[in-house]
Amino acid sequence: MVCWPSFARKRINMAKEKDQNQNKRTELQELGEFGLIDRIAGQFTDRQPDTRVGIGDDAAVLDTGGDKLTVISSDLLTEGIHFDLSYFPVKHLGYKAVVVNVSDIAAMNAIPAHITVNLAVSNRFSLEAIDEFYAGVRAACDEYNIDLIGGDTSSSAAGLFISVTAVGYVEEDKLTLRSGASDKEIICVTGDLGGAYMGLQVLAREKQVYMANPDMQPKLDKYEYMVGRQLKPEARMDIVHELRDLGVVPTAMIDVSDGLASELLHLSKHNKMALRVYEENLPIDNQTYEAAVEFNLDPVTCVLNGGEDYELLFTVRQADYDKLKKHADIHFIGHMAKGDDRPGLVTKNNTLVPLQAQGWTHFKS
Ligand code: ADP
Ligand code: MG
Repeated sequence: MVCWPSFARKRINMAKEKDQNQNKRTELQELGEFGLIDRIAGQFTDRQPDTRVGIGDDAAVLDTGGDKLTVISSDLLTEGIHFDLSYFPVKHLGYKAVVVNVSDIAAMNAIPAHITVNLAVSNRFSLEAIDEFYAGVRAACDEYNIDLIGGDTSSSAAGLFISVTAVGYVEEDKLTLRSGASDKEIICVTGDLGGAYMGLQVLAREKQVYMANPDMQPKLDKYEYMVGRQLKPEARMDIVHELRDLGVVPTAMIDVSDGLASELLHLSKHNKMALRVYEENLPIDNQTYEAAVEFNLDPVTCVLNGGEDYELLFTVRQADYDKLKKHADIHFIGHMAKGDDRPGLVTKNNTLVPLQAQGWTHFKS
């Protein structure tokens, strides 16, 4: 019998594994984004004592021994997937790239402080365009009181890639994770939903009209609110500060980036319990509602599956309800519920419909 030294055995095993892997090809769409993230997370264990929360929440949490915890979030925006430069002004893109990260910091009930910005740009971009982009980044830094502290710059063979990482801080007793909610706690959402999605529909339609006839001027007046929600979203840091002023710490929180239904499913999964939300309580702006009808879309579907609203979805104890009930921009849409049944929407005619996430389809061909 040949006795292989251990390095050779390792090589033979690796070659066998390669052969096996070559015959197997799993399409990413079979897993979807969340399945893929779970798979990546399952391949790593945290080894640093200061890693409090790793993969799985809106931001990672580090306990480095100071008087506050550090939170870190990262997001990638890809041309053709997250934005279309034919209708997305570059300055707005710079602003939005920061906002989507600040929103994740807000979702931890934390205060943002620093960002890094990584860019991969094709030669389609001029210096003036880069200046515009950074004017947007600067405007967001001013708005949210953040320092740009670094990044990386590369050329790109195909399209524009923007990756921002944000760092923030939060006191131990204010840290809010996606988990932490209990039975019967109230589910709240800020602002109104579905607007950013309808804004995208409007911009896409106007692009088609323009391409068919470049002399046509886009008619955006009555869609101004929605287009603004798509092109210039804001992170709800105002709510984070107001909750502090009111002395309310949410028990669980997540930001609404992929669509309310998707975020509710996360809330249910992270808290290992069911929940109910009520159609009649879902916040939708009038203009958004009318535009959805005009586009032959169900307004409730836009609210549930639209995405990119960057509002905050959180749970509070029943005892905190009185402190929040007069807040004009916080809506009480449902409650957590013991049990492992699928999170459900109670419709206006009192039917229970299981929620489905449809927000994320990037890997679908
Ligand atoms: P959000 O929508 O709040 O930005 P995501 O769904 O993008 O959250 O990410 C959920 C979690 O998965 C986060 O903790 C994020 O850091 C982590 N994550 C996402 N993509 C990767 C990746 N490629 N490698 C490691 N962690 C990832
Ligand atoms: Mg998030």
